[in-house]
Amino acid sequence: MKKLIMAILLFDLTAGLLFLGLWEQQRQETVSAASISGGAKDMQDSTEKNGKQSGNAESSAESPGRGSRDVAAGEMTEKKKIALTFDDGPHPFYTAELLDGLKERGVTATFFVTGANASLHPDVIKRMQDEGHLIGNHTYSHIQLTKKNRETFKKELVKTNQVIEDITGVEVEYVRPPYGSWDKSFEEELNMIPVLWTIDPLDWCSGNVACITERVVKKAGENEIILMHDYYDTSVTAALKIVDELLEEGYEFVTVDEILFE
Ligand SMILES: [Zn+2]
Repeated sequence: MKKLIMAILLFDLTAGLLFLGLWEQQRQETVSAASISGGAKDMQDSTEKNGKQSGNAESSAESPGRGSRDVAAGEMTEKKKIALTFDDGPHPFYTAELLDGLKERGVTATFFVTGANASLHPDVIKRMQDEGHLIGNHTYSHIQLTKKNRETFKKELVKTNQVIEDITGVEVEYVRPPYGSWDKSFEEELNMIPVLWTIDPLDWCSGNVACITERVVKKAGENEIILMHDYYDTSVTAALKIVDELLEEGYEFVTVDEILFE
């Protein structure tokens, strides 16, 4: 009788241990499955994020073999964003020269064009759009807003929006008022966002490429907006030198919308 009880107890114990073992194994499988799917989700999120931030990556100078490692590195160190903006164009020669240089470097910028120049060079406006640059309004005739010309100024903005939209098919959202003179009530009236600047190297009055470049590179910082003009040979040369030096310092060039809204 004692032997029988012992045998039953032993059987129960073995069955219990076996059950416990199976349960533990099952639990571990569930945990590891959960962590794999969680990890996959994180990876997807960061891929989307990276893809969004470096929209122009396909033309970057990076060697293709380093691609996957770059994604991993990008997750750890976010690049400092900076925006180049060019006013007054398009110029018949210099703007195309600038676009060539930006394309070579895989860099996008923002162009605040006058309606008059845009209607003279619609092909250049189209090219800006095709190559991922942002196009904004800089009035029709480069008029400065004063207390007396509010309505004329507003008409110039509307006319320029129309010129640009006829070429690109896209609504113009951003405006750089010449000389920075602005009236906040236009923002609601025209549904437009003014974009000023944080770094002004006065490139329009200096023919010295090294001087313009140094002024910008010295002041460069995260989320700065650089004001230049694609209307001078020296500005174009300086802008491309600035791009080379700041890329070297780890900056990422973005269009102004990415600095204003992210
Ligand atoms: Zn201007």
